[in-house]
Amino acid sequence: MVLQDLGRRINAAVSDLTRSPNLDEKAFDGMIKEICAALLEADVNVKLVGTLRKSIKHIVNFKDLPPAVNKKRLIQKAVYDELVKLVDPHAEPFKPKKGKPNVIMFVGLQGAGKTTTCTKLARHYQSRGFKACLVCADTFRAGAFDQLKQNATKAKIPYFGSLTSTDPALVAAEGVTKFKKERFEIIIVDTSGRHRQEKDLFDEMTQIQSAISPDQTIMVLDATIGQQAEAQSKAFKETADYGAIIITKTDGHAAGGGAISAVAATHTPIVFIGTGEHMLDLERFSPQPFISKLLG
Ligand code: GDP
Repeated sequence: MVLQDLGRRINAAVSDLTRSPNLDEKAFDGMIKEICAALLEADVNVKLVGTLRKSIKHIVNFKDLPPAVNKKRLIQKAVYDELVKLVDPHAEPFKPKKGKPNVIMFVGLQGAGKTTTCTKLARHYQSRGFKACLVCADTFRAGAFDQLKQNATKAKIPYFGSLTSTDPALVAAEGVTKFKKERFEIIIVDTSGRHRQEKDLFDEMTQIQSAISPDQTIMVLDATIGQQAEAQSKAFKETADYGAIIITKTDGHAAGGGAISAVAATHTPIVFIGTGEHMLDLERFSPQPFISKLLG
């Protein structure tokens, strides 16, 4: 199920109820059931769906509704607010400051979309007047530096990396030092992923982190990985303690409920979403506009 379908289904469930002539408790329960089914099918964590169900029931409190109350508005608002809560960890994401170096390190599994998203983010800040650059600290995957180089060249973003070094922490530190000297304001460090969460990857992440002391670590999560997203994001959180999430491939055939559940599991805000393979396919994320758009 794609993300838009999830929105349409939830919207339809609410509209069916609020348009129906006999808005009774049975119809209300039916609406909640349909919303929960849609969320579960989209891979949202079952506990979160349970909490949402209880909260909507509690807020609307159908049995004790005073006759004068506008039931439709109350129900619509309760659904909207609870969906917002699902994607809102109430944590302020880091905001880079102009006139100083802001070092941003990317982490995530191989194929999540790190390299692509690094360039997108550098371009995003560059177009907002920041002096931005990229450092490739992936010495594990052959071709990683070439890929970053190609993307960076296309976007006219300065980059640093090594074709021969086997020490990612050293390459990262060299790149960051060089760009700090050159007064870059956004220094984005791409790191290696592996196919699985494994000890080598986590050791490497820790080494790079202590070598460059990033101002912000961002976890890149693929929207299409479904339920695994939660365990993955927790494991990365324990090691890399990232402060923000970017969800990629939201244009694909997945509703991304797993990735959305990662927000709740790690209390970490989503800051951007990737909406395609192109450089400009990056959208800022904030909970309320996202849910408004989802519900159309
Ligand atoms: P990395 O191994 O984490 O660095 O992942 P890459 O940046 O190499 O991306 C893996 C694949 O996902 C590439 O084919 C990208 O073009 C693709 N990709 C990344 N972000 C998005 C996105 O938001 N939407 C789509 N459709 N594809 C994406």
